[in-house]
Amino acid sequence: MRLTRYFLPVLKENPAEAQIVSHRYMLRAGMIKQQAAGIYSWLPMGYKVLRRIEQIVHEEQARAGHISLLMPTLQPADLWRESGRYEDYGQEMLRITDRQKREMLYGPTNEEMITDIFRAHVNSYKDLPLTLYHIQWKFRDEMRPRFGVMRGREFLMKDGYNFDLTKEDALHAYNRHLVSYLRTYERMGLQAIPMRADSGPIGGDDTHEFLVLAETGESEVFYDSAVTDIRLGEREIDYDNKAQCQSVMEEFTSLYARTDETHDAALFDAIPEERRKSARGIEVGQIFYFGTKYSDPMGATVVGPDGTRTPVHMGSHGIGVSRLLGAIIEASHDDKGIIWPEGVTPFHCGIVNLKQGDEATDAACEHIYKALKLLGLDPLYDDRDERAGAKFATMDLIGLPWRITVGPRGLKNGVVELTSRRTGVSEEISAEDAVARIAAIYADI
Ligand code: ATP
Ligand code: MG
Repeated sequence: MRLTRYFLPVLKENPAEAQIVSHRYMLRAGMIKQQAAGIYSWLPMGYKVLRRIEQIVHEEQARAGHISLLMPTLQPADLWRESGRYEDYGQEMLRITDRQKREMLYGPTNEEMITDIFRAHVNSYKDLPLTLYHIQWKFRDEMRPRFGVMRGREFLMKDGYNFDLTKEDALHAYNRHLVSYLRTYERMGLQAIPMRADSGPIGGDDTHEFLVLAETGESEVFYDSAVTDIRLGEREIDYDNKAQCQSVMEEFTSLYARTDETHDAALFDAIPEERRKSARGIEVGQIFYFGTKYSDPMGATVVGPDGTRTPVHMGSHGIGVSRLLGAIIEASHDDKGIIWPEGVTPFHCGIVNLKQGDEATDAACEHIYKALKLLGLDPLYDDRDERAGAKFATMDLIGLPWRITVGPRGLKNGVVELTSRRTGVSEEISAEDAVARIAAIYADI
């Protein structure tokens, strides 16, 4: 993309309404525009990152054997009366009446609807296990929408639902989700720690929240600092292997890590003092096992191997897709702007032309731009007629992980500059080598 043809409405001033750095940078980098409290338009660059995050979520769900579908944002109130949640959900639910006076709602989550789909089409235990998920907009009329996309009213969520014959199978689905979420967050350059949590209006006994440690997080968390040393990394996971999924789950959840809702001072005090940490965290996901809480009242049953009908064991599993943009920025930025991890960056690299209009410099930039495109990469070429300082400031703000800087002086010596946004380290190398380096960096991302 050439910047002169792109839509990147960068703000020079710090927006007064933004209290935390991710909100400030998302507004300044022209990623989002607020349309009403907690409701945003996603401008092109913000939308690009959002889709990148969605894609990683889809890829990791597919790897775990989960199947994607799409349910609507609007739901009939009657479905929620079956589970008893229509009255319970309270003011966070946006209730709507259509012209036929039918009561509807904008879905805050989809347990009822997915259970309705299941009971309409699945009859036998032979069709299990089954996990269905979607990535869809939700609406919760939050009391205090704030911090930009972190606590919106309309927000994008991945929510998945498992259906299993037995509790044991459903707990395997729980572990499978836990492992697939760890991989999902790691691919986004994030460390999200599973912590024991409270089940809230979803209900159920087993639940973990995934928290990204950050000063601006809304949750208070308590943990053994040894949990921050564990990574999933590149290890091979067989998602059908119950023992393996369980052992990864145990590895990540045995050490003390809890949100304030389930915090237990006595257990916490048993941790060696130097490892006892309390901090703030951003909740980027949550998994639940809730047994037959919905299948029972809603009649989602299957015929089991013995010929009798039993309600299925279920769980639900959510990732805050739009909140993740904020969480990633909170975890990865400096005083000049965002620093995107390679896994989610909106463009693979920036190209800065230091002397727009200079024939040799323009030609070298064009050459690099086209070479990167030919390799299937997506560079952002700053071809504006602007001062070098302004171009660098824009690149630093929007946070592309790599920058190739091209100017007449370097070209005389046959070199361009390749700079890492994270370390600030620059190298002078040939244009060909710069292109090859960028290609190599993204080859296995
Ligand atoms: P919270 O405690 O932050 O209100 P929740 O526990 O009610 O969240 P879940 O029902 O677990 O939310 O939803 C799954 C994920 O969706 C959460 O882990 C979070 O990342 C995201 N999410 C929830 N509410 C919002 C919101 N208002 N804005 C943006 N993302 C949200
Ligand atoms: Mg939650």
